[in-house]
Amino acid sequence: MDILIKAAKLIDGTGSRSTSDAFILIRNGKIIEIGSQNDLSENLTSGFGKFQIMDFPEGTILPGLIETHSHMHCTGNSEASERMLLDTEEILIMRAVNAMRVSLLSGVTTMRDLGSLNSVAFAIKNAIINNVIQGPRILVAGTPITTTAGHCYFFGTEVNSEKEILEAVRKQVKLGADCIKIMSTGGNFTPRSNPRRAQFSLRFLQEAVEDAHRLEVPVASHCHGTEGIINSVNAGVDNLIHCSWISSNPSEGYDYREDVVDEIADKGIFVDPTIALGHLRQIDDPEADVFQRGGVFYDLDSRYEMLRDMWSKGVKFISGLDAGMHMGEFGTHYNSVLVMIEKMGVSPIDAIKCVSKNSAECLGILPETGTVEKGKYADLIVLSDDFEKNPNSLKQVDTVINKGVVVKKNQIPLI
Ligand SMILES: [Zn+2]
Repeated sequence: MDILIKAAKLIDGTGSRSTSDAFILIRNGKIIEIGSQNDLSENLTSGFGKFQIMDFPEGTILPGLIETHSHMHCTGNSEASERMLLDTEEILIMRAVNAMRVSLLSGVTTMRDLGSLNSVAFAIKNAIINNVIQGPRILVAGTPITTTAGHCYFFGTEVNSEKEILEAVRKQVKLGADCIKIMSTGGNFTPRSNPRRAQFSLRFLQEAVEDAHRLEVPVASHCHGTEGIINSVNAGVDNLIHCSWISSNPSEGYDYREDVVDEIADKGIFVDPTIALGHLRQIDDPEADVFQRGGVFYDLDSRYEMLRDMWSKGVKFISGLDAGMHMGEFGTHYNSVLVMIEKMGVSPIDAIKCVSKNSAECLGILPETGTVEKGKYADLIVLSDDFEKNPNSLKQVDTVINKGVVVKKNQIPLI
């Protein structure tokens, strides 16, 4: 049945100003008309036969949220690492099934998984495509590529030579990966890997990126340390993850490089700053030392200052929670948006652009979703309040429409 949605406000995700008293018509999963309720005449609607009307006189329509960075079978709490190592594959799959449903009901209509077991990631993706389970549109990297004992080695792909890194890229593509995830530095999730230092030489990274691009698959590079960020930028990756600017020198904190930022902006490399996790961990345990809190987040105020500077230099930000990691609970991707607004001083309209249009562009799916525009899939969320005046209303998404199907209505899950 066709659906007619009316709301006090529409934010379309393109970065344009909001419009008032908007309506959207949906047919066969797609947006077929958008306009002002003043123009919504009998004539316009009479041709559509029976349609369901949903009216939100105080509400805001937004594009469905895009979570560009999750780990679908991880717990999202302090036991994430332990459970990942100890749980059976069956448990990991069941956890991922639940994570998909919870995420969708929270308003995430597209998700990119950036590191899970191949046996889980591709099964979940196929199960969603074939309607076996409910979940967002999903893109997956499968297992990230790392070094022996390197960051997230336990996901299963350890490489130590140029031959092996090429084999790993090709294997992921063969399995159906939508992108390649490379661990360019160590990370906090993996004790003994070193977040400050590069795991791969520039030459290794270049080989991998060149081969992935030959196969038309983008590369996302995990990098905390500045050494790994510079290697990634020079190797031509498409997407930087974390981008924490940590000095390779253990006695120093940050090593922020404005010249590299200019290059990131010029090349149009998307940056996922995973901004919410450090903030949430600090709230969770204000007394924790930096390593308990996540190691690399030495001084969050300085980090926000760097991110603001990157923003002012024109870097394109996307939105990743790192769902599955400690404090990255599935269903709380709204935190990525809210912390951007609160700590980076980004306007609500711009923060939504990051979680919708920019993220869709980074994932290569902008022609089909990511903004509220005629001809695109109806991936929409509706809040019961004015998002610009009350961004926290994003925490309780009222209604979720996934490819034209209403999966949550007035806070009630329909899946
Ligand atoms: Zn991650």
